[in-house]
Amino acid sequence: MKSKTDAMKDVRDKILSLKSSPLYLYRKENNYHPVIGEGNHDAKIMFIGEAPGKSEALSGRPFCGASGKLLDEMLLSIGLPRSEVYITNIVKDRPPENRDPTPEEIELYAPFLDRQIEILEPLVIATLGRHAMNYVMQRYSKEIPEPISKAHGKVYNTVINKKDIVIIPLYHPAAALYNGSQRAVLFEDFKVIKKYI
Ligand code: URA
Repeated sequence: MKSKTDAMKDVRDKILSLKSSPLYLYRKENNYHPVIGEGNHDAKIMFIGEAPGKSEALSGRPFCGASGKLLDEMLLSIGLPRSEVYITNIVKDRPPENRDPTPEEIELYAPFLDRQIEILEPLVIATLGRHAMNYVMQRYSKEIPEPISKAHGKVYNTVINKKDIVIIPLYHPAAALYNGSQRAVLFEDFKVIKKYI
């Protein structure tokens, strides 16, 4: 059987040559990189964001800009080193001007995320923002979908590839950057993850 690292490399190679993506040309024109994901392949906890921003597309690393700084602070607040988790996004290429990913883009990139979940076999999936939440909950949970204003910080038990897993929807760190009360909610919700470390 392939190692997790080799299996992840296969995912990377497919994304690198994804010419059918509407974001492929934009990536090439700007010398951007696709952002595949980063972290520990034996992580128990997987974070899934929306799509790379400019810093991420320039470096090829997820959550390395302003939102990433806040994510790092939140990880620190529960004593969880970034090196112990795996971090990725649904959409692997940067949408122009930081616009929301389109449903077509989500549909195109989602099979790569599905494969990463299958390879990693995390115990916890923490989604960051409504796009990641909507996709992961619709794809993997039998619960009736709720808006993120109700679902954030809750624990949804489900089974993925015959393994018990929990999904914890969280607000996106970008939403909390300039909003103190959202920030406080996000830090509070993060404590839920602590139980699974
Ligand atoms: N926002 C995201 O959703 N993902 C990143 O990697 C960076 C910012």
